[in-house]
Amino acid sequence: MGSRNWSRRDLLRAGVTTAAMAGLAPLTEAVATPPAPGAVVFDALGEIRTVYDANLVDRILDSGTRAIAVTITDPKAAEADAFDLMLRDLAGYNLYLRSMPAHYVQAASVADVDEAVRSRRLAVFYNLQDSSPVGGDLSRVSLLRRLGVTSIQLTYNTHNRAGSGCFEDPDRGLTAFGRELIAEMERQRVLLDLSHAGMRTMADAIAASARPVIVSHTACKVLRAHRRNTTDENMRAVADGGGVVGITQIRPFLTDARSDNLEAYFRHIDHAVRVAGIEHVGIGSDRDHRVIADTPEELAILLQEEGPQLSPQDWPLYLEKLNGPHRMQVIREGLRERRYSQSDIDRLMGGNVLRLYRDVVG
Ligand SMILES: [Zn+2]
Repeated sequence: MGSRNWSRRDLLRAGVTTAAMAGLAPLTEAVATPPAPGAVVFDALGEIRTVYDANLVDRILDSGTRAIAVTITDPKAAEADAFDLMLRDLAGYNLYLRSMPAHYVQAASVADVDEAVRSRRLAVFYNLQDSSPVGGDLSRVSLLRRLGVTSIQLTYNTHNRAGSGCFEDPDRGLTAFGRELIAEMERQRVLLDLSHAGMRTMADAIAASARPVIVSHTACKVLRAHRRNTTDENMRAVADGGGVVGITQIRPFLTDARSDNLEAYFRHIDHAVRVAGIEHVGIGSDRDHRVIADTPEELAILLQEEGPQLSPQDWPLYLEKLNGPHRMQVIREGLRERRYSQSDIDRLMGGNVLRLYRDVVG
């Protein structure tokens, strides 16, 4: 890592990119191609676990990341338990983030991202990967928003009150309750996330939405027929509504190749850009920031966490070159090698997700 004798804030004032600060590009080149004003690296959905220490968060900040949406509770909980479990886990996140005030900003709006950029911290938005904590009580949407939840997935993998998850066949589509939930989320400025939805439910929900939506962590079904991936048709519909599709880094969604597989990630990004347009694609890693060892012990931990939805063939879950806190640097360099312009790189790395949050969350 170069430039240790410069403070990062000095470099930021000089308009130097975070890639240059991390020693990834010569200083002169970085000065010649500064990021667009307001360029922010924003992971549309990724993991911050309440065990991460200051050193790991510093490495995440070194990668340039300044904002991330995290899933605060287990979406596999039964609906009857989901609300109480969510309250417990939300309190845990609040305590953890407040215990590291030099590293985190708990984010309720894009003003908090501005603050994170200014103070070189990480803005953390709260996401739910299932609407089950709402139960049948729509007044909870406003409560969740006031507690800091800024995005909610309509469904996880199975049927719920709102619609069908991607594991269900047939997909029964958006329900009447799902329509009411979407309208209430729009009133409360909670971003609708359609990751994990079945394709029919997803299409119905996009059509029912007056506001832009996100599919925060998915990949392209036409490149790989995985049930979690999204059709070109639905990606186009998300874009037509002003929304964003986040491309995940979960290896089995992207490729069979267990090693030497980074190209697969860029193939999915390239395809999503062709289909949805450069202003409607982002990064939604869905990945841990710790370096996960390729060992039977780690596989056993994962199988315990994820249950029967995961099989040993899905291992490893990560792309080897994106396994760790440095991954946003690797992606930025890869996009540059693929001849994306600086402004397009800024859009893909977070500008599009930030715009969406500004439009919907405020
Ligand atoms: Zn997910």
